[in-house]
Amino acid sequence: MQFSKLIIFASILIGVASMLWFFIAALVRERIPNVLKPMDGYIFDYVVVGAGSAGCVVASLLSKYSNATVLLVEAGSSFGFLSKIPLLTTFQQKGLNDWNFVTVTQKYSSKSLAQQRQFLPRGKGLGGSSQLNYMLQYEGFEGDFERWASEYYLKDWQWSTIKPYLQAAQAKPYERLDIPATYSKITYAFSQLHSEFVHKSWKYRAAQYNIKNGLRFNVLERFLQPAYLHNNLRIMTNTLAKQIVFVRDKNGKQNKVKFLKVSAKSENKPQDQTFLIEIRHELIISAGAYQTPQLLIISGLGDRSNLEKFNVTSNAQLPNLPMVGQQLHDHLIIPLFVSIEQVGPTVNQRALLNPLTWLKYIFMGGGHLGNFGVLGFIDNTEGPISDHYSLTLFGVGAVDERAFMAISNFKRNDFRGLFPRYHNTSQEGFVINSACLQPLSRGTVKIDDLNIRKKPIIDPNYLNKAEDINCTIKAIRAAVEVITSNSFSILGVQIHWPRLKGCVNYGPFENDFHSNQPSDDYLECIIRHVGLSSHHPAGTCAMGLNSTNSVVDSQFRQVEI
Ligand SMILES: Cc1cc2nc3c(=O)[nH]c(=O)nc-3n(C[C@H](O)[C@H](O)[C@H](O)COP(=O)(O)OP(=O)(O)OC[C@H]3O[C@@H](n4cnc5c(N)ncnc54)[C@H](O)[C@@H]3O)c2cc1C
Repeated sequence: MQFSKLIIFASILIGVASMLWFFIAALVRERIPNVLKPMDGYIFDYVVVGAGSAGCVVASLLSKYSNATVLLVEAGSSFGFLSKIPLLTTFQQKGLNDWNFVTVTQKYSSKSLAQQRQFLPRGKGLGGSSQLNYMLQYEGFEGDFERWASEYYLKDWQWSTIKPYLQAAQAKPYERLDIPATYSKITYAFSQLHSEFVHKSWKYRAAQYNIKNGLRFNVLERFLQPAYLHNNLRIMTNTLAKQIVFVRDKNGKQNKVKFLKVSAKSENKPQDQTFLIEIRHELIISAGAYQTPQLLIISGLGDRSNLEKFNVTSNAQLPNLPMVGQQLHDHLIIPLFVSIEQVGPTVNQRALLNPLTWLKYIFMGGGHLGNFGVLGFIDNTEGPISDHYSLTLFGVGAVDERAFMAISNFKRNDFRGLFPRYHNTSQEGFVINSACLQPLSRGTVKIDDLNIRKKPIIDPNYLNKAEDINCTIKAIRAAVEVITSNSFSILGVQIHWPRLKGCVNYGPFENDFHSNQPSDDYLECIIRHVGLSSHHPAGTCAMGLNSTNSVVDSQFRQVEI
């Protein structure tokens, strides 16, 4: 047999063997030892709703550091093995373990998306969104905590108090993957930037992933699984929290959370079973930024004038909490595609079909499949917070049109205007994502139905504030400085300014490709067209001192009225 035929035969064999291995692994579901059967009559000291990033940590620490009985209620079950392989993570979006939320039509943004609506993936099952997120580890920013402490009187959140907790939560070096400068020619160029831009106060960070031995390593492995051994912790999977039930205390003065009404599938009954769980001490709602306000509103905690139209009834007189579901904000990223002349460093079809890529992953857990493709970050946290921005270096050269459109909702022509080399699956290059770190635009989460199974009405209201446009323009111009730097010049870079039908009056013009300084009007136009959610929703149960600007106090208790 000729040598080349031998190589082809060997690669097919490796391909088939690894697919078989992943297929078998996908069929083997995680065993969860302390799952409870759905039925009436349970009483727990603490009940935690939602086994996502927050819920897994809270439930495991509560059960570890107290003798109290703890129940963790989760709408989904376990994720398949696919969630563990870092590069394949986006294939979970739109799948069984994704809640599949979509925004309402956006007024100021998302013009390149069908109906101007953004897809909002959220994880459903043990681990929640940390099972389908991109596994990137970020450190808290000191300035944010200091600002919250002083502006909102949240003394417990000042940096000196919070830092030890953040440090304790951080993955140990052996539990994470750091992308080194030697990873590729792109990371090498990235590592040289700081000596070129000495006059800038940019902060450079190589990507750090929550990946251990080539597999996702998240709150499930780090916190919840070790807590499976605690005999005071129980878990209810496939169980949806439907409503919080309050009662008045003996002298009729204060409301007390008494029960959680849940709905679950039981083995021998086709219909869902609804039952009550009694709560002795506290109920902790950690159902994420969209579903926490949804559950509160359905239970009668929200803006009273709004609740009246839904006829929410409760035995207790619930307080007016107008901030529930308000203040929604999220990062919007603008991807800019850059092609390079070098062959080899980026993720594309050629790299993925190379048997060496698979061998490297199967035997060492490394290479392209062993991370998500993000290589590093540059943050600007100088000046007023409305100017803070971040650049993310994403080492993907060719994007599969169908796969990308399926998870981003892009219209075909605009997708092709953004990635002009869309037809070349072996294209080498990278994407720089520019984002404003502290957007001022605020949106809402509302409901139009009291049924928890109906999706909440999500309106992030992206780019409602002009400051967010100005900040993002600054970010894109900073991205241009990086791409056209001496450090990156060895890669033979070319920026592909998006050609979008809705922006033709503003550019890109011939000169823009030479100067790489298109007008602000053109940049604003592309920002309003191609900006994509980076899935960091926050603010819908804001923390503060009173109900006029917040929902919970600095200890996550419902604010005093
Ligand atoms: C695609 C994507 C990529 C991301 N990439 C990163 C990244 O690289 N780095 C990073 O730091 N962050 C990233 N994030 C953000 C991060 O994952 C989330 O901020 C974080 O997981 C949110 O945690 P949470 O506990 O608030 O909510 P979740 O983790 O979403 O948990 C909520 C849980 O509650 C359950 N639930 C909801 N309603 C009910 C109900 N009524 N009854 C019972 N259970 C319920 C859900 O099923 C879910 O398990 C990403 C997010 C996404 C979606």
